[in-house]
Amino acid sequence: MIDINNVSKWFGAFQVLRECSTRVEKGAVTVICGPSGSGKSTLIKTVNGLEPFQQGDIIVDGTSVGAQATDLPALRARLGMVFQNFELFPHLSVRQNLTLAQIKVLGRGEEEASARGLLYLDRVGLLAQQDKFPAQLSGGQQQRVAIARALAMDPIAMLFDEPTSALDPEMINEVLEVMVGLAQDGMTMMVVTHEMGFARKVAQRVVFMDQGAILEDVPTEEFFQAPRTERARDFLARII
Ligand code: ATP
Ligand code: MG
Repeated sequence: MIDINNVSKWFGAFQVLRECSTRVEKGAVTVICGPSGSGKSTLIKTVNGLEPFQQGDIIVDGTSVGAQATDLPALRARLGMVFQNFELFPHLSVRQNLTLAQIKVLGRGEEEASARGLLYLDRVGLLAQQDKFPAQLSGGQQQRVAIARALAMDPIAMLFDEPTSALDPEMINEVLEVMVGLAQDGMTMMVVTHEMGFARKVAQRVVFMDQGAILEDVPTEEFFQAPRTERARDFLARII
């Protein structure tokens, strides 16, 4: 479903990604971890074309992300992305947040968009909050709305970049539970996170990055029980 082949990227003279390759099968979950500055966010943003890259190739469901002819807005509409900082529209109600892109990007009518939005709002346990504005919600609630908004677009896969790292500890689990449910329903997911309990629960593979390179790309239990590189061992010793 997501095939990253030998991707390299530079910011000016600085090489931020070094020949990165990995693949996420349909219905599978990959967790990406690694120290700060290792290139995790940059890598995940190359997948939906938010970050261009100079070498290599990424194929998402048969579409080449780097090809000139590719319609990136159309590709992005098919990939849900959830960031650290929720990024809801502050001046719109929860329900309007859920329907806007469905109407503008997918061309759905108000009624259909509303029905789909509320279906997913219910699924993340927030149906009663539909008329509130983002500032009236907790961080965990805002992040669940952001996930519902992405799901309402019927994505073929979901990309998450540290979705719980800006949350107070007591709100982390409510967001992780939604993500676990998604994984169990067979959603294809790439998740940058240091929540190793989540990784062990749902990820088939763990990718470990350091200094722009993928040092490990292994089945989850192997990563925890027998990390191959010293850097991964150090990293695990620090975060677990
Ligand atoms: P974190 O865990 O802190 O989120 P990360 O693994 O997501 O880190 P990236 O944000 O991908 O790391 O950044 C990788 C490297 O690229 C860092 O050294 C960063 O300073 C650099 N970088 C990121 N964006 C840019 C940019 N727009 N211009 C120049 N350098 C950048
Ligand atoms: Mg990052």
